[in-house]
Amino acid sequence: MRRKKLFGTRGIRGPIATKVTPEFMLKLGGALADHVGGGKVVVGRDVRTSSEMLTCAFTAGLLSGGSDVIDIGIAPSPCIAFTVRTLGASAGAVITASHNPPPDNGIAFYRSDGTEFLLEGELAIEEIVLGQGPRRASWDAIGRVQHHNAIAPYLAAIKRSVKVKRGLKVVVDCANGAGSLVTPQLLRELGCKVVTLNSHLDGHFPGRPSEPQPWNLGDLMRTVREVGADLGLAHDGDADRVAAVDERGNFVKHDALIALFAERAVMASKGGSVVTSVNTTAAIEEVVARAGGKTFRTGLGNFTAVMLEHKACFAGEPGKLVFLEFGPWADGIFAAAKLIELVSADRKPLSKILAERVPDFPMYHEDFACPDERKAEFMRGMREYILKNVDEVRDVLDVDGVRVNRKNGSWILVRVSGTEPKARLVVEGRTKEELERLKKIGLEGVRRFLKSK
Ligand code: MG
Repeated sequence: MRRKKLFGTRGIRGPIATKVTPEFMLKLGGALADHVGGGKVVVGRDVRTSSEMLTCAFTAGLLSGGSDVIDIGIAPSPCIAFTVRTLGASAGAVITASHNPPPDNGIAFYRSDGTEFLLEGELAIEEIVLGQGPRRASWDAIGRVQHHNAIAPYLAAIKRSVKVKRGLKVVVDCANGAGSLVTPQLLRELGCKVVTLNSHLDGHFPGRPSEPQPWNLGDLMRTVREVGADLGLAHDGDADRVAAVDERGNFVKHDALIALFAERAVMASKGGSVVTSVNTTAAIEEVVARAGGKTFRTGLGNFTAVMLEHKACFAGEPGKLVFLEFGPWADGIFAAAKLIELVSADRKPLSKILAERVPDFPMYHEDFACPDERKAEFMRGMREYILKNVDEVRDVLDVDGVRVNRKNGSWILVRVSGTEPKARLVVEGRTKEELERLKKIGLEGVRRFLKSK
């Protein structure tokens, strides 16, 4: 398989000082125009201080390659995907570095159906950028820019797609990102009483680090408890992600949200396929099977191709949820509306709904420093060691690292990061004791094959 040189697991990201420069974006715009062969391209951006500058350069590249640009300004990533499909554009691009730190920026591309670019598309763009450079259109074929308000139609489409039975009290934390433009208003229009945190646009991200993980959401958890809300919701900077907090102010595990929505999607489509990443709980397979569906697992950041292949009704990896009933892109805002719909239809609080629907098994995650040049050797050693030491093996998954599933559903996963010099160990046990036993095997493997040298 050819390896990507510029693209990571989702688009291109890096410091604006050295990698994602205006010069680079100009070339990339030309390359996208060249790749799609003209037509319309939807361009949107997040609130970073560098996003407008980079959008201008990228737009100039697109125009010079003969593409027309539909500029939708600051908008959440899922809104850009939605607009590409709605307007019948050839492609879309969002200038964002998602939850990377403020000095970074980046870009991700969408295809005409709203799915993220697949490997072939990314490689084709790289070939143009790193090769002879993009073709220039002649003076009479240069593209034009049109401005378009994309937020209103997107918000209206979500409203039409959910049925909220009763108004809930919700605390929303948009991380000062693009979700601020949609989620608070959407939830109010759905009849909720909304308390906002960090929901004004600010590219300095003063409120909190943008990744919606429990260690960044202390204010949200506290506010949910203080105001007696039914739940809390948090986005990352471009709102393709969402995290939830229950009525007691406790963080809802990302995996539990995947399982909850996966089961509903399978029930609604009367059987069907769900796609999830290799590092999520076995509870997902179990609830999906109970509802009459089937689960497929993929590598991290890699679900699009598998989701299309199996005509899945739902896909999710931690924080990123794809509702195929609405669109084939990760959508933190639609997910927020779906969670409101789900809780509003039940008299029980969210914590109770989760406890009843989704088994909660003890889990353990740890990252270890692993230089790139040692990754292959480490994985070889770990694979053999785990297979030798874990008993009652049901099956082994090699889609991204190695995941060994035991017959009772517990599992151990070892993988190496595609973008950082890191190895990751994840373990899930049916009980705490089993977790400890599997964890010991994993840590002993890491000691032998990583730390001993
Ligand atoms: Mg994101």
